Amino acid sequence: MAEMKPVDAFDLVIFGGTGDLAMRKLLPALYRRFADGQIPADSRIVGVARPHGDDESYRASVREALAQFVKGADTSTIERFLSLVSYFGLDATQELGWNEFAAELKSRPSRIRVFYLSTSPSLFVAICERLRAHELNRDGARVVIEKPIGNDLASATTINNDVATAFDEHHVFRIDHYLGKETVQNLLALRFGNVLFEPLWNAQRIDHVQITVAETVGLEKRGAYYDNAGALRDMVQNHLLQLLCMVAMEAPASLDADAVRDEKLKVLRSLKPIDANNVGITTVRGQYRSGASNAGAVPSYIEDLGKPGSTTETFVAIKAEVDNWRWAGVPFYLRTGKRLPARVSEIVIQFRSIPHSIFATSAGPIAPNRLVLRLQPDEGVKLWLMIKSPGPGGLRLQEVPLDMSFAEAFGVSQPDAYERLLLDVVRGNLTLFMRRDEVDAAWRWIDPILAAWKSGSEMPKPYTAGTWGPSASVALIERDGRTWHDSDSTDP
Ligand code: NAP
Repeated sequence: MAEMKPVDAFDLVIFGGTGDLAMRKLLPALYRRFADGQIPADSRIVGVARPHGDDESYRASVREALAQFVKGADTSTIERFLSLVSYFGLDATQELGWNEFAAELKSRPSRIRVFYLSTSPSLFVAICERLRAHELNRDGARVVIEKPIGNDLASATTINNDVATAFDEHHVFRIDHYLGKETVQNLLALRFGNVLFEPLWNAQRIDHVQITVAETVGLEKRGAYYDNAGALRDMVQNHLLQLLCMVAMEAPASLDADAVRDEKLKVLRSLKPIDANNVGITTVRGQYRSGASNAGAVPSYIEDLGKPGSTTETFVAIKAEVDNWRWAGVPFYLRTGKRLPARVSEIVIQFRSIPHSIFATSAGPIAPNRLVLRLQPDEGVKLWLMIKSPGPGGLRLQEVPLDMSFAEAFGVSQPDAYERLLLDVVRGNLTLFMRRDEVDAAWRWIDPILAAWKSGSEMPKPYTAGTWGPSASVALIERDGRTWHDSDSTDP
């Protein structure tokens, strides 16, 4: 069993405490850590939203959310958890109520104080200004911000400047929940806790890398946001690039936050630029048409959105390259999209073929080794190896996985990424959070792609909902004599 170390008692304020993220992710994550005994009972969790309720009505909403989003939540633990939860009605853009709010927090002066900005980024400046004016940003107080951190480099700079008015960089926790996933940390453990992989982790031994983040869902209720963002901003700028960094970075000197983030930054800065000159051969954008999902027939993106003429991409595939000695000539194929056939996130490290075969052709083909790191749904790692097919009948070869499904291997269900990350914030551990210069570097790579798409005449290519994107995405990788890894997962 994993060892559970409790954190020190804390005050966590969720601005946007009545919103979707708070109810669906943050409060359930806090509940689970509380249920496991990691959150001391004298901690306080304060939901803030514009005034329209009281502690009791807020707790009732949280109770309902926990019943809906935490499988097997137990009534008496929910009630104990709710005794930590309170509500404060504040309009972030108005001064009214801030004195009382500040006094309430300052009633416990030596507390670890965390402010989670789970609101539209347009409110960050107002919230941060008031936190500073009321001196709530002092004594090591931390602020957590969520994606989207901007729509491009310029808007990201504005958001980061707004937050920097009240918090220095060492107290800013930029969440990318992909980094909180067990498998991503296992990538660190595999690479740097074993001697086996690192000597092979380079262009001499690795043929290419694939990173897929596939969703089966369409727009859900996020149409207004998504249509302004698209798959490149919504998924690639943050999640996929962060995963690419974890695969491609050099060994940091330690797990110290800045040591790790320095190495990730170097990767981002080494990405070969994609602009009008090469965007046509290195990227594919798509938009889903009507089709079918596991749940039956589904409408097109345009019908989902209710806005004819939108050219927002719901799928993107990119051939990226990290221009340095370790990775020279090794493509990183990235793809992500909505309304794909399976909900799956995985990283595939495809090793090179053996240089020479000693086996007769009757032994069968020899597949190159593959390391597959599955982030969701069932987190785990598979290393595909060639072995002798068991039994008599001559020496025939067979490809088999060394399979480590974490849930099966350890008999524990993996914590949601938010559980780990929220407690890391309380502990003040920044290792799994993005530094400002990483966000900037990611936008510096993304912005020219967006500009090239905008200036070109080509529209996103249509693909049928329930398929793996436009055929051009297959062509992108097959032109290089490679194929997308077949995901064996389907939505539960
Ligand atoms: P949401 O459901 O629209 O919630 C917004 C919250 O902000 C509500 O609690 C709202 O409460 C509060 N709010 C709005 N105006 C306010 C004001 N003037 N003063 C104080 N509170 C105010 O949004 P969300 O989906 O939870 O997302 C929150 C942030 O996280 C967004 O930036 C979003 O892009 C990001 N995010 C969300 C998800 C997700 O899964 N939902 C995932 C990744 C990132 P009242 O209206 O009652 O005041």
